[in-house]
Amino acid sequence: MKRALITGITGQDGAYLADFLLKKGYKVYGTFRRVSTPNFWRLQYLNIFDKIELISVDLLDSFSIIESIKISRPNEIYNLAAQSFVGASFEQPIASGEITGLGVTKILEAIRNIAPDVRFYQASSSEIFGDNTFSEQSETTHFNPSSPYAAAKLYAHNMVKIYRNGYGLYACNGILFNHESPLRGLEFVTRKITNSVAKIRLGLENNLELGNLDSRRDWGYAPEYVEAMWLMLQQDKPDDYVIATNETHSIKEFLNIAFDFIGLNWENYISVNEKFIRPVDVRHLKGNYTKSSENLGWKPNIHFKDLVEIMVKSDLERWIKWQKGEHFAWDAWNYPNEKRILSRKLKLER
Ligand code: NDP
Ligand code: GDP
Repeated sequence: MKRALITGITGQDGAYLADFLLKKGYKVYGTFRRVSTPNFWRLQYLNIFDKIELISVDLLDSFSIIESIKISRPNEIYNLAAQSFVGASFEQPIASGEITGLGVTKILEAIRNIAPDVRFYQASSSEIFGDNTFSEQSETTHFNPSSPYAAAKLYAHNMVKIYRNGYGLYACNGILFNHESPLRGLEFVTRKITNSVAKIRLGLENNLELGNLDSRRDWGYAPEYVEAMWLMLQQDKPDDYVIATNETHSIKEFLNIAFDFIGLNWENYISVNEKFIRPVDVRHLKGNYTKSSENLGWKPNIHFKDLVEIMVKSDLERWIKWQKGEHFAWDAWNYPNEKRILSRKLKLER
């Protein structure tokens, strides 16, 4: 039986990847952070919480990483743990660098020293392309990070290449473009919108504040993207791959489909609050996944409209169940409206 160690098992991708690997017959070990209130809701939501071996790891603590490798003796390690939110990386640039950047070197060093035959997947990101003028981005496009998050991811991306070329590790960067699902974190714009759309439909909310409505993303469906992570580790040679849909859409287009689904006009419910506008934003992302399609045989099947509708439908169903008094594992019921979260306007006027 193959053994996989997934860091960041409590996150969106951690949950879907664990589900995918369990179905493939893997023994799955997942790392979680010790926090004051447990946050295993995604694993519970997918009904896999009891099937995973749990290990407590913080990427800030090298020894906990080494311990997790010694305990799990994995064939494959998937590093999905990160401070993963671009917005927070402007508020916490140092923690973002230490976790999302240097944390990866700690894992690579641990692998080099105690498990050099392990196959390693690093969750790289389309954010490393930054604010560029290219119509689409592939593995050979120039990297130009535009946030502390992206700079940390690019550092990690380069370290993976250095350990692959310098020490012969089987290590891959998956350059994944944005991928969403009903398990997406509530602070990301897609889920922020679909959660509010559901609440507006049920009369629980009447307005949503957002930032830059014109930026464009290449949004895919997370359960399909975790399969690509696995495929990268099943090849003869390690390499870096773009995973995307090759479509780009704006936040306004997302709003249009989401509000259409509940029969309302988004323009009556959305206002722009400057506190959600980033000091530097990535305006346009569209991934070219030709290499993944040719080498891995991977392609996306869920496209933009379906993705938006899957998310709205699921948030609507959850709020309806909640209103009926049903209790189940999810995140939104005690998440504060972001209007309530105090923060400095990110962009400085000079
Ligand atoms: P999530 O934010 O949902 O999950 C991140 C995970 O990292 C959580 O389990 C979190 O634990 C854990 N984590 C955070 N800080 C630490 C730390 N110091 N030590 C150990 N674990 C930590 O992200 P996703 O699942 O969406 O993304 C997975 C990975 O892919 C991330 O690295 C992300 O940056 C990257 N990525 C994601 C994309 C996307 O569109 N989803 C696109 C491209 C890259 P906790 O629950 O305790 O916070
Ligand atoms: P990212 O691509 O990883 O930064 O994913 P996000 O979902 O956080 O942001 C996608 C885009 O939506 C960015 O260009 C944001 O500036 C834009 N956006 C506009 N309003 C908001 C908002 O209220 N919250 C977030 N998270 N993003 C917003």
